[in-house]
Amino acid sequence: MNKPILVTRSSMPSLEEYIEEIRDIWESHQLTNMGEKHQKLQKELCSYLDVDQIELFTNGHMALELSMQAMHLQGEVITTPFTFASTTHAIVRNGLEPVFCDINPEDFTIDVSKIEDLITDRTCAIAPVHVYGNICDVEEIERIAGKYGLKVIYDAAHTFGVTYKGRGIGSFGDASCFSFHATKVFNSIEGGAVSYTDADFGLELYRLKNFGIRGPEVVDGIGANAKMNEFCAAMGLCNLKHVDKEIEKRAAVAGIYRKLLEGVDGLTLNPEQDGVKPNYAYFPVVFDEKRFGASRNEVFARLADEGIFARKYFYPLTNSFSCFHGKYDVNETPKALYVSKRVLTLPMYAELAPEEAERIGRIVLACGK
Ligand SMILES: *Cc1c(COP(=O)(O)O)cnc(C)c1O
Repeated sequence: MNKPILVTRSSMPSLEEYIEEIRDIWESHQLTNMGEKHQKLQKELCSYLDVDQIELFTNGHMALELSMQAMHLQGEVITTPFTFASTTHAIVRNGLEPVFCDINPEDFTIDVSKIEDLITDRTCAIAPVHVYGNICDVEEIERIAGKYGLKVIYDAAHTFGVTYKGRGIGSFGDASCFSFHATKVFNSIEGGAVSYTDADFGLELYRLKNFGIRGPEVVDGIGANAKMNEFCAAMGLCNLKHVDKEIEKRAAVAGIYRKLLEGVDGLTLNPEQDGVKPNYAYFPVVFDEKRFGASRNEVFARLADEGIFARKYFYPLTNSFSCFHGKYDVNETPKALYVSKRVLTLPMYAELAPEEAERIGRIVLACGK
């Protein structure tokens, strides 16, 4: 029996490399609260991501949630349900109302032609998601936001290192929130960051991640505790050294899948977007049961029989979650609903061996007619 293959496997530096990186923490005894590693990672990420400023967080979710809080938003936020729970939860936990826009079934991001119809006098922001490493139509979103005076907070959890027309993807919008969770292209065990340009917003973010403390005797924000600790920052510093190579290896895995599955009737693969340097974060396949001969769920089960654990990501849609008690109607986002019922993300990580990728691709193919 082959060893089980999970949908992802966390990138790690060598143990020696990590030990070397954390060694001086035993001299400084500074474990957290924006220490040396934190500052160093912040600086290195600004340069790697090609963005003006960043603020680090404990995780991507707090980056999103506190970005929205720091903007003092009120009212409705236009977003999509084809995302991880985090995006919608960040909106609702800020006392804001999510208004769900449908997606483009080609690249899974927000359908910008439908945004303007959803704008009301209560709309304060747009929270689009760069899905699977595909980018949203950032230019059209910028135009709409400018026309109606809306803030734009991107969920950029999937787009670490992605550039558009040579520009870091985090340089678009008012804020872009990255996740450095263990399962992402780049990880700091748990971690996240917000990229931004407005200095006042940055200061507000900095305070909010530290309880809203302004000074030793002044607390003027109802903040949280979302500071990245030194051990996570050290992991980030180590992983950052290898991330380009990791992305190259992911590209090779994607190439193997693509060679096997491209052009097969009933299968839709991730698009290659013009002007975008991809990061191969995920390898989604959309299954049209009638044309391919097997449904997404059948392929999922067949792979699981072989010890290969693909993921129904994103399924279910966030607007169908039971925590919202039927408040939203999934039929208002029919394309997102269609894709969520048919999409499977195949195992994708740098260390996935070419022969394993080949085997996975062949099992998928064999499910068809
Ligand atoms: C991973 C992820 C998040 C949350 O990031 P964490 O670091 O796990 O908190 C938010 N949105 C999307 C789309 C994600 O994939």
